[in-house]
Amino acid sequence: MSGPIGIFGGTFDPIHVGHLRTGFELLQELALGEVRWIPAGNPGHREAPLADPGLRLAMVRAAVADQPGFVVDDREVHRTGITYTVDTLRELRAEHPTRSLCLLLGMDAFLGLPKWREWQLIPQLAHLVVAHRPGWRVPQDGVLGELLAAHRSHHRDDLHTTLAGRIYVHAVTQLEVSSTGLRDIIVSGRDPRFLVPDPVREIIRDTECYARHGRRRP
Ligand code: ATP
Repeated sequence: MSGPIGIFGGTFDPIHVGHLRTGFELLQELALGEVRWIPAGNPGHREAPLADPGLRLAMVRAAVADQPGFVVDDREVHRTGITYTVDTLRELRAEHPTRSLCLLLGMDAFLGLPKWREWQLIPQLAHLVVAHRPGWRVPQDGVLGELLAAHRSHHRDDLHTTLAGRIYVHAVTQLEVSSTGLRDIIVSGRDPRFLVPDPVREIIRDTECYARHGRRRP
């Protein structure tokens, strides 16, 4: 069996160094076979992104282009209607019946999991790898506390020897960067340099995909 497929979903509005460094550390430290970046089309559980799906996909492609082990998967961008992670995981499980799948989530995303469609099925389809983010604590009680108590693993080998069902919490370098913060920077006319890869900054500048929501260009 090749290494686990790490699945990094998000709206990526825009993709930034917090996403990229997290994906890179998880790729290396958990010896994943690949990290598959899956930009959401029309995500159901949050506000509509500012940049259109094609542009967010282009920014993800530009950001990961030179990194071996990083792969872009455009299935959600091309899906009509609201995109749900559970549907993507069902598809990936059918495509890779003997491969470990690891859904990579920041702690904030993990804490919102109970709002996702058919969320209780998600740990049956994939492992959950939860990356620590600044300011967020591991839940001790409630449904997620119970889920962790039942499924938490402290052994990264479990992600290789089983196909799904474990929850693994992994500390990554803490980078307090968010797409929301970046959009604010751009809308207020400041430069997002060094918070996004240069090719992403160029797409943002050339298309004015965020600046047109504010006063001036980045
Ligand atoms: P927004 O500010 O628009 O909510 P975001 O920066 O949180 O965006 P998303 O595209 O919503 O980015 O997040 C996709 C995934 O990346 C989620 O699992 C989220 O927890 C994770 N993530 C986002 N920012 C970071 C960061 N700085 N460090 C680690 N993980 C992150």
